[in-house]
Amino acid sequence: MIDKLAIIGVGLIGSSLSLALKQAGAVGQVTGYGRNRNNLEKGLELGVIDSYESSIAASVRDADVVVIAVPLGAMQPVLAELKPAVKSTAVITDVGSAKGSVVTAAETELGELYSRFVPGHPIAGTEKSGVEAGFASLYQDRRVILTPGQRTDPDAVAAIEAMWLECGATIEYLSVEHHDKVLAATSHLPHMLAYALVHYLSGLNDHDEIFRYAAGGFRDFTRIASSDPAMWRDVCIANGDALVGLIQQYQQELDRVAAAISAGDADELLKLFGKAKSERDSLIGNC
Ligand code: NAP
Repeated sequence: MIDKLAIIGVGLIGSSLSLALKQAGAVGQVTGYGRNRNNLEKGLELGVIDSYESSIAASVRDADVVVIAVPLGAMQPVLAELKPAVKSTAVITDVGSAKGSVVTAAETELGELYSRFVPGHPIAGTEKSGVEAGFASLYQDRRVILTPGQRTDPDAVAAIEAMWLECGATIEYLSVEHHDKVLAATSHLPHMLAYALVHYLSGLNDHDEIFRYAAGGFRDFTRIASSDPAMWRDVCIANGDALVGLIQQYQQELDRVAAAISAGDADELLKLFGKAKSERDSLIGNC
């Protein structure tokens, strides 16, 4: 049970966490912080938060757990601002989609409180943003990856693990480097492909007609191109090295497909599509 929880960034991820903990009866008081007062007022109205503050320092002062749920580019200034105000016994965590940049920022900004910081990433989300996008079941049966280091206090890790378990999530532990490499492939690269496809098609002369005939496959493939552009700009900047390497390898794969099509190589195409289908069917099933 968390007596006082502070959520910095009351958007999709932060508000869903609060709603899930409230539904589980696992939190007492939830205080929010964000820059946009209307969003926070909406959070009060929806019962996502119980109060809000006009500064990060004020919002974390009495908190037992602080969850930083802002875009990756805002993590460092948020950590710098909360450091002088947070209790030494508090546990601080984040939900950022890449971990290396956040851990570096926490090492730089938190000083002796670094041991109280547990880096985290819920593998759950939608293409929607803001407090109204949040819902209590977002983390049900979803994975949360934690990437604590040698210096992280075990009791801080246990507190964050318990928090996510209350939301119905399962916990996995990865190193920061492994997390960023794996997520670059499974999450960051697909977002780049969706953004690039829609951007490319929208630049064609007859794009109105192309989009008019868009069917289920196009919608499925491009749904994530409706995700928040600023959030994904920050993910690219934070995890650029891993991501650029994957984009280059993917370009080679597309070249291979184009070459097989140009050559009319039906066997090669069937082999490639068959392998991809059986991999996806066995890994993901019919989701
Ligand atoms: P979101 O819905 O846009 O919420 C982000 C919140 O952060 C907003 O409420 C915004 O409120 C606040 N914020 C933005 N810039 C800020 C700043 N400079 N200082 C303080 N607050 C700021 O985004 P989200 O989807 O919840 O993503 C939050 C984090 O979760 C990101 O780090 C993202 O990488 C990670 N994540 C996202 C997903 C996903 O699918 N969306 C999944 C896993 C992890 P104000 O504008 O009022 O300040």
